[in-house]
Amino acid sequence: MAPINPQRKMSRGIRCAYFAAVGLVGVVVILVVVFSVLPQFDAMTSQTRENAPARVVVVGGGLAGLSAAVEASRHGAWVTIIEKEKNIGGNSAKATSGINAVGTSAQKAKGIEDSISVYIQDTLKSGDGLSNEDLVNILATNSAAAIDFLESFGLRLTDVVQLGGHSVPRTHRFPPTAEGKPVPVGWTLISTLKKYIEGSLKDTVNVLTLSTFKQLVIKDGRITGIEYIDNNGSVQTVEGAVVLTSGGFANDHTATSLLEKYVPSLASLPTTNGVWATGDIIKATSGANLSLIHMNKVQVHPTGFIEPSQPLAHTKFLAPEAIRGCGAILLNAEGKRFVNELGRRDHVTAKMVEHCKPYKGVEGNPIVAAMLLTQKVIDRFGAPAVGFYRFKGLIEDVGSVAKVAEKLGISVDIIRETLHAYRDAAGRGNDAFGKTVFPLTFEDDDHFFLAYVTPSLHYCMGGLKISTSAQVQQVDAASAKERSLPGLFAAGEVTGGVHGNNRLGGNSLLECVVFGRIAGQHAAHYV
Ligand SMILES: Cc1cc2nc3c(=O)[nH]c(=O)nc-3n(C[C@H](O)[C@H](O)[C@H](O)COP(=O)(O)OP(=O)(O)OC[C@H]3O[C@@H](n4cnc5c(N)ncnc54)[C@H](O)[C@@H]3O)c2cc1C
Repeated sequence: MAPINPQRKMSRGIRCAYFAAVGLVGVVVILVVVFSVLPQFDAMTSQTRENAPARVVVVGGGLAGLSAAVEASRHGAWVTIIEKEKNIGGNSAKATSGINAVGTSAQKAKGIEDSISVYIQDTLKSGDGLSNEDLVNILATNSAAAIDFLESFGLRLTDVVQLGGHSVPRTHRFPPTAEGKPVPVGWTLISTLKKYIEGSLKDTVNVLTLSTFKQLVIKDGRITGIEYIDNNGSVQTVEGAVVLTSGGFANDHTATSLLEKYVPSLASLPTTNGVWATGDIIKATSGANLSLIHMNKVQVHPTGFIEPSQPLAHTKFLAPEAIRGCGAILLNAEGKRFVNELGRRDHVTAKMVEHCKPYKGVEGNPIVAAMLLTQKVIDRFGAPAVGFYRFKGLIEDVGSVAKVAEKLGISVDIIRETLHAYRDAAGRGNDAFGKTVFPLTFEDDDHFFLAYVTPSLHYCMGGLKISTSAQVQQVDAASAKERSLPGLFAAGEVTGGVHGNNRLGGNSLLECVVFGRIAGQHAAHYV
């Protein structure tokens, strides 16, 4: 047996004592830290709900609101979304044609040559010189980043179509699923962001539905929060910087209708908008001298579907512009084309008013054009989505060209003549109406489908005036000068300035993402 080394025995004892002491000190330090931090941690969690210093209130849960909320949260703010409906989504959830962008991987994969400057020119041209060029620049230069932002949630906007007024295809959509189910663009964007907010951001973003904005809280010339009416009818206050994203007023038939006030001649038209689009916030903030712009610029979309069982219905399903972008054409009651189907919305609408007659020739019915499409157009647009319109009775499977003529009550020779002339024009690359892009032509033995479409109120180009940082502008009562109102931001359809006289299809969803994100970031930094 080896002799015991007394020195070794001694150092082992010292080492044990040393480690015991260090361990004890360590435990004490940990306990001190835990007990001193716990109350702060508790205070932090209660700050999320009650009195966190950096807070942002977003009014409206559409695409602009959700984009703002995500960015504000990512920039360190506690966010409350106030939404008056039972569900978030607004008109954003109804969007069906797509979202514009330039220089995306989807455009590149399809060999589409586009540029930011061409996109800016298309948008400015469509706005008839009324658009704010700085805002349009920001919209265009941030468009690819907006798609990246959306795709960062696992989405793939790989389908690209060309809508009216665009020089090239740049409106991004979702292709159908592998099982052939349609993937509607607006609903998919909203449900994906909602899931992300309710999951990953659940600790910092609070969504209050059935809660209606009442008024801004203003202290010393700054916005410090809002009052809203909760789902029990009580008035509540939330403090923080405010981002207004409450949408437009294209369905405002209230006693204080903004349609009657700004565009009385259009107020009786049907609408594609949901019941929430009543411009509440514009009215509720009227005492705050907020600057408004282009309030009388309300877009009429040429193609709201007529539901044959109720042609006078006030709310219409939209026949998305992308159906025409995929090749559908419009005919008047005589079976003749009368317009470039890919012209601007206001142009197509004006030509319908000039050339079309009331549905079924009955006075009092809305004026209609027949929208003619074939199986090829449907395959291109997405057969599953068209399946929905057919299920609703909005698109009818007619069959042969002779049946089309029968349905329209005209000679088959006229229809054939129209289709042949269209084919010739496509061969030449232009027609008498200025059409230069012909997505598809028609053969006599194609399988045809028919729908009736009518002009419908669709979008408000005007609204709150904002700066390039999405700050709401106010006319200062003392100096009568315009300034950014501290603490107040806005984005989406509640604002005006980007679209001027006429919005290009696909520019609104983009505006929601680009300026929603800017508003969220600036609001978070402000607080
Ligand atoms: C049928 C249809 C199809 C469209 N298709 C396209 C398309 O393909 N591409 C495109 O770019 N654009 C499209 N548009 C336009 C586009 O969808 C909208 O302009 C855009 O989504 C508006 O977004 P937003 O976030 O500003 O407002 P919204 O999405 O309308 O959201 C506003 C929200 O604010 C809420 N709100 C309103 N008032 C209050 C209040 N007082 N208190 C609390 N909450 C309030 C509303 O309930 C609503 O949920 C389409 C529009 C419609 C109607």
